[in-house]
Amino acid sequence: MDQVESVRTPASWVVVGLDNGGTCNNATVLDATGRYLVDNLVENPSLVTDGPESAIDQLAEAFHNILDLTSTPLTLVRAVGLDTPGPASAKGVISSKGATNFSMVSWHGFDIRSALEARIGLPVFYLNDANAAALYAHHRLFGAEAMTKSSVAAIVGTGLGGGVVEDGRVVSGAAGMAGELGHVQIPLHGVLEVGQPVPECNCGFTGDVESIASLTGIKKNLLPYWLTRFPDHPLAAEPLPQAAKQLRSYAEKEDPLALAVFEQQAKAIGKLFTIAANFTDPDAYLLGGGVVEAAPKFRQWFLNTVRENTQLRAEQQSAATFALVADLDMAGARGAAVAALEAVQNG
Ligand SMILES: [Zn+2]
Repeated sequence: MDQVESVRTPASWVVVGLDNGGTCNNATVLDATGRYLVDNLVENPSLVTDGPESAIDQLAEAFHNILDLTSTPLTLVRAVGLDTPGPASAKGVISSKGATNFSMVSWHGFDIRSALEARIGLPVFYLNDANAAALYAHHRLFGAEAMTKSSVAAIVGTGLGGGVVEDGRVVSGAAGMAGELGHVQIPLHGVLEVGQPVPECNCGFTGDVESIASLTGIKKNLLPYWLTRFPDHPLAAEPLPQAAKQLRSYAEKEDPLALAVFEQQAKAIGKLFTIAANFTDPDAYLLGGGVVEAAPKFRQWFLNTVRENTQLRAEQQSAATFALVADLDMAGARGAAVAALEAVQNG
């Protein structure tokens, strides 16, 4: 009883959120009143490249460490939310073909959710990292109204991740593959220049959102084309992977080539949001990724360009919000915690 009274939260119980990444795990604690007990990144090495056994050890360590750090007794924890990069099933089984972060054969088809549940002896709820970030962004934007609102989030990184949230919950789909917004094919008219090759995605599709609006899309498709239009540009002398990473700093200085590339990305996301407008007509269109950390003027220009290229009806224009996803480095752990909290409350 003494132990329970020492807890600094008035809530009677908590959930833990664990975000599993390629190099680190990040952990958080969310109490039953919806308050996070952790304000900063709390990380430990994920060791995913050492295989499932080491990775589960590290997740268990992250779990116990965050309880110690917040002086939360184990007995108060009702559930754990876990997110990892995909592809994985809705139940947390890593793809049978493996995945970028889970390339060892021992990971193929590995049930990471059940393994962690068995290890820590508490219910574990799973979602992929992009869905977790989308869920956190939704709850952060809408607060107390989150459970009556809907949103679509596009997060631009190495690929294009995202998620669809309806009534405060992630739409996961029959196979766990809903919200794969990067692989939605979009109309390219008005996005590509005359004579520009149709962009190809690593998934095998051409002209999907990720083939344009991702770092991979810049490197593979957009930059090689735009360098033919600006042959004297300083980035023409750099290897493509390095040039692609430098592009945002050029855009912040209003470099014409860089702005042309990011304008195509913003148009592609606008086309995606136009599809969303006709599909689920969400309350909010959320945008995240590296662009959120960019200089405010460029960031605002990018968001405005997305909005200008999202064709909404007048009724939708007055009903919908466009916003940037904040706290992206903590969004995975926090979104996983939100999913666990809801699962307990609706258990
Ligand atoms: Zn694709």
